[in-house]
Amino acid sequence: MHKRSLLATVPLALLLATSFAQAQHKHVHGEGKLDVVIDKGLITLDLELPLDAAVGFERPPKNGKEKAALADAAKALNATANLFVPTPAAQCSVQSTEVKVPFTGGDDQHGQHPHEGESHHADIDANYVFKCANPATLKGIETTLFNTFKRLYRLEVQRTGPGGQGAQRLAPRNPVLTW
Ligand SMILES: [Zn+2]
Repeated sequence: MHKRSLLATVPLALLLATSFAQAQHKHVHGEGKLDVVIDKGLITLDLELPLDAAVGFERPPKNGKEKAALADAAKALNATANLFVPTPAAQCSVQSTEVKVPFTGGDDQHGQHPHEGESHHADIDANYVFKCANPATLKGIETTLFNTFKRLYRLEVQRTGPGGQGAQRLAPRNPVLTW
């Protein structure tokens, strides 16, 4: 193949791969994802929420009220011990909390992905780590996310831990992950 056409091909392939990856990254409004790993007394939670589920919009805030809604969401998502309650007997304490809410003055491109020519979508990403003094008694984790975010109606959970891997769907009437 002539050298020049090879060079022309590479960016195109890259472009296709990127747009394919972006197209794959769809979210469903009202539905979040939670990955939970329980390992050696540590619980790691990775949460992904459509921004829409937290504040009802997925674009830069237009006014003070929307800015306040984003700030309230970020505050609630940083209150780790309120959001997730592991089995009390396991005596788990918060080790770390990392929350990225788009349009709150950090990396505003974060979590944004174009969607078929219409407006952008945006995701909240958060990572939480708990350390448990009595991991043997750990039987579940209750979440208050549905109380905090009324637009959230489903949480798809993937769990990896002592009992192996499992999936569970949480909802306002069933906010407890058990294993
Ligand atoms: Zn969206």
